[in-house]
Amino acid sequence: MATEREYGLFIDGESTEAASGEFRDLVEPASGDALARAAMAGEADVDRAVAAARSALDGPWGKTPPIERSRLLHALADAVQANRKELAELEARNVGKAIASVKLELHQGVENFRFYASATASIAGRSNPIGGSLLHYSLKEPVGVAAQIVPWNYPLMLATWKLAPALAAGCSVVLKPDPATPVSALRLAELATEVGFPAGAVNVVPGEGPTTGAYLVSHPGVDKVAFTGSTESGGEVMRLCSRPIKRLTLELGGKSPNLVFADANLADAIPSAVWGIYYSAGQSCEARSRVLVEAPLYDEFVAAFAEAAGRLKVGDPLEPETQMGSLISTAHRDKVHAFVEQGRDEGAEVVLGGEPGDRGAFYPPTVLAGVENRMVVAQEEIFGPVVTMIPFEDEREALRIANDTKYGLYATVWSGDPARGHRLAARIKAGGVAINMPYTALTGIPFGGYKQSGFGRELGLETLDSYLETKSVVVSTSAKPFNPFGL
Ligand code: NAD
Repeated sequence: MATEREYGLFIDGESTEAASGEFRDLVEPASGDALARAAMAGEADVDRAVAAARSALDGPWGKTPPIERSRLLHALADAVQANRKELAELEARNVGKAIASVKLELHQGVENFRFYASATASIAGRSNPIGGSLLHYSLKEPVGVAAQIVPWNYPLMLATWKLAPALAAGCSVVLKPDPATPVSALRLAELATEVGFPAGAVNVVPGEGPTTGAYLVSHPGVDKVAFTGSTESGGEVMRLCSRPIKRLTLELGGKSPNLVFADANLADAIPSAVWGIYYSAGQSCEARSRVLVEAPLYDEFVAAFAEAAGRLKVGDPLEPETQMGSLISTAHRDKVHAFVEQGRDEGAEVVLGGEPGDRGAFYPPTVLAGVENRMVVAQEEIFGPVVTMIPFEDEREALRIANDTKYGLYATVWSGDPARGHRLAARIKAGGVAINMPYTALTGIPFGGYKQSGFGRELGLETLDSYLETKSVVVSTSAKPFNPFGL
């Protein structure tokens, strides 16, 4: 069983011990049971991983043409598909997440490798007709060694979001997963090597963020940093990248609104709004954690939402029927609960949930009603299964509340008036807006934030470009000699 394993770091095409010999005991947050042991990287290991990534670029990986990179990415997609059972179980145990959700995320992971395998065909420079006797063309070159940092909420899927475009572009990668959830990324790196990615193209170094992570992003051998995590850590990573002027993309937090108008089709809006917050137990950057409801509908909507949320199947992550598993840790559960208590103190009414479970890291679906947007529970990212219900009077006020946040990741509009959907889509300050549909993070569609939700895009063709440099080459075709100073 993979779950009984001891995991090393993955550097230069093989599993290896940490120089310090440090290990972390991983637990299953849903039960508190031991899962596995994983080596934790320190500075010497990061040095080794960055050196391996550089040699790969200077060696066989740097000479691998796009068409061969495409073949390798398809092979990796096949390998993930073939190993999906093991990967899904490992991820569900390690994160405490419902296995039904993990299966969807795995499916997207496979699609991501396939999308960027095809996207290698789009890597091309251009030639501009600049006139005279000048010829210009541009070359697209991989940025170099990419440091990629991912959080614990979607360890496997976010690793695919990061690895696929970087490898398609021809970069080599040093990926740092969260120390609590390293196992699926380590398995991905093993599979990448098995299908033929050259040693050093993919390295995985789990470790603590403020030490190992900060050392990695500051490393002089790293050319580009792609970070997914909290806005606070993202700010620190940006500071670390500022002196050496590293290329940087940031996917950060959110407090995304669901706008429900009285003319909405509630048969769609209610189950979708429930899904929008409780998927992954609310531990999603784009969780629709603020539900803004038009005043005449408010009481009816809150009651129907709470009734539906109360029917969610919360429990053992490995049970196929489970819809919501546990949170990532009991420490995180306590943080979530502290927010709910703060909401109570601020005057919100707990309509559903609001008390931690008595086993594992479980927290029930929780609904806070009577929330005003200025309250802490409406402004701060709770990152748990807690929704805030906020009434609004008209479209103008809905827009004002939707934009009254430091974040700008996603928004959803539910309305029977299509013009209103498009009008709001143009005015909401967020990287994405969904109209009358729940889904947002889809392969091929750019995903990312406005404001403090970050910059750069994942999942789209833009992402590929963020791993490429553009080099302009200019040539004179003139027969005349040059004498710029007229000497
Ligand atoms: P976090 O910022 O604490 O940690 C995220 C990752 O960054 C971890 O691997 C951590 O070890 C590392 N890290 C932390 N400090 C670092 C530093 N100084 N230098 C380098 N690395 C560092 O975030 P978290 O609480 O683990 O994850 C949840 C956050 O991630 C939420 O805010 C969520 O919204 C965000 N998130 C965003 C997206 C997106 O696409 N926008 C997706 C998923 C999660």
